[in-house]
Amino acid sequence: MEGTKKIQTIAVHGGTRRDDSFGAINEPIYMTSNYRIPTDGTPVDWSGTKSNIYARNRNVNQMVLQDKLCALTGAEDCAVFASGVAALTGVFIPFLNSGDHAVISEVCYSATNLLFRKYLPEKYNIEVTFADTTDTEAVRAAVRPNTRLIHLETPGNPTTGISDIQAIAKIAHSVGALLSVDATFAGPICLFPLQLGADLEIHSMTKYINGHGDSLGGCVLGRKDVIEKVKEIAMVNYGGILSPFNAWLIARGLVTVPMRMAQHSRSALAVARFLEASPAVRFVWYPGLKSHPQHERAKALMHDQYSGMISFDIKGNEQVHQQFLNELKLISHAVSLGDVESLIVYYDKYSDKLPHYPEIFKEGFFRFSVGLEDADDIIDDLQHAFESCNLM
Ligand code: PLP
Repeated sequence: MEGTKKIQTIAVHGGTRRDDSFGAINEPIYMTSNYRIPTDGTPVDWSGTKSNIYARNRNVNQMVLQDKLCALTGAEDCAVFASGVAALTGVFIPFLNSGDHAVISEVCYSATNLLFRKYLPEKYNIEVTFADTTDTEAVRAAVRPNTRLIHLETPGNPTTGISDIQAIAKIAHSVGALLSVDATFAGPICLFPLQLGADLEIHSMTKYINGHGDSLGGCVLGRKDVIEKVKEIAMVNYGGILSPFNAWLIARGLVTVPMRMAQHSRSALAVARFLEASPAVRFVWYPGLKSHPQHERAKALMHDQYSGMISFDIKGNEQVHQQFLNELKLISHAVSLGDVESLIVYYDKYSDKLPHYPEIFKEGFFRFSVGLEDADDIIDDLQHAFESCNLM
């Protein structure tokens, strides 16, 4: 079906199974830790992931979600995990061995940063080079003969920087390394990293894929041989698997992700344009704005939908920034992103993450996840807060 149908149809029907027991249209939740094992002498692969034996190796709601994600992204296979971080370690642990070298995006999610700055080098003897992956030549200069993984985020969290996935995939493959792309900021709709040459596509499903802010989850997508390794090593033996209930919730959220991403993208562009024109604003980065440093690249990669994530800062001192957050009525100060409601988080200038970001971010900034409220109402909320802070 996937070959001929449009993305919204695939999101509704792709990967869905028929319930032949009762004819239920919706997938039941299989709350079981065990499955019956054949007693007729059929060989049993006790620790494998290809048959239903024990819910850590494979469970039905997990499989349904994996199939739906494959249908949506065109991936051959998928492994789902209990969180985005579990999905990330589900890539880093299987594909990096002691003595290997990895090239990592300077701008990346804080757990990824800490894993590569501290735990993976100190505990597992992994050599790491951090690079500005929006600068393809910096990535080329960073690879070594023992580089086994290049990992980047596009758009990067929190700056929204865009890396050239196609060019970096070629660099990775030239030294026999894999390219993994954390595309959480783009959702599974605004960007298709696997089609651009990435070997692994990772999402925190906690964000856009689920979209409703009510469960955590993560996924890794890629070729069958690559994902089989992720399942066997990370799912079965590290064990951070997704529960049947959360798999069911996320599969329900995924059905509307094409429509949500289209609306998030439309509203974020309107909000970004408002911010760019406002005298209250010190800077704004949104991949859909012509002023974004990698706008042309974003245009080539993102098919005119730039997702809902904006980075910006206002003028004024720390007190003004605090007051601005207090004045927002519709938009909540919270750390997550990709939910139906607008969420904003402030990185003050003392944050230990700031040294890794481009110069303009170093005085502090807001990361804004534009929700599904009407764009005019979101803009009114910002405008009112600017006026209350005497920024206009
Ligand atoms: N990757 C990115 C880009 C993220 O923004 C996040 C969380 O904010 C994660 C991974 C981690 O996801 P989770 O919180 O589901 O573990």
